[in-house]
Amino acid sequence: FFLTLEGGEGAGKSTQSRLLAEELERGGHRVLRTREPGGSPGAERLRALLLAGDHGLCLRSEILLHVAARMDHLERTVLPALAGNAVVVCDRFGDSTLAYQGYGLAEGDPEVLDFIRAIARASYRQPDLTLLLDVSREVARTRLVRRGDSPDRYERLDEAFHDRVSAGFRAIAEAEPERVVRIDADGAPELVSGRLLREVKRRLGS
Ligand code: C5P
Repeated sequence: FFLTLEGGEGAGKSTQSRLLAEELERGGHRVLRTREPGGSPGAERLRALLLAGDHGLCLRSEILLHVAARMDHLERTVLPALAGNAVVVCDRFGDSTLAYQGYGLAEGDPEVLDFIRAIARASYRQPDLTLLLDVSREVARTRLVRRGDSPDRYERLDEAFHDRVSAGFRAIAEAEPERVVRIDADGAPELVSGRLLREVKRRLGS
């Protein structure tokens, strides 16, 4: 079972993927927890390039690098785990490319959205379930300030960019309601975790 977590900055994806993986393990599932960009040695190298200051690449090249990292991560990490019957919990996947590069950087340019969708269709399997952590702007900001690490290339972009990303994620959830479930991610981690777990258990039938 291939499960992805998506959402903007400060949505709580890394905390929630950890809690979810722990709960699933307690329930007797074999779990692989991973994240993008990265998740395999090759893809981690591409991550460093993508998240560095100004990488100087044009938009479509940046998109293709995210896809290249994703292909390696799938081949080397995700597919072998799925073949071994693990539940794969992945922090970000293809929807992040559509939201950040498509809706965010390209401001929803239909040609870029189609470019990303066409590559996705041709290149990789969709997750069985995607949980979209939907967080209000205020809560996201508070969490980022508390985290206090130095912002990466995308985190430095302005508020309008992050609003477009959030709206993009919501559009993705509306377009694919079967696969993408929007979860209210404001509130304490344990509360949000309970919401996620209920949805996952319903889908896993356990
Ligand atoms: O989830 P995490 O914060 O580790 O993601 C790393 C960074 O990569 C984030 O700032 C996110 O905005 C960015 N990203 C992106 N495009 C993607 C995937 C991630 O801009 N397709």
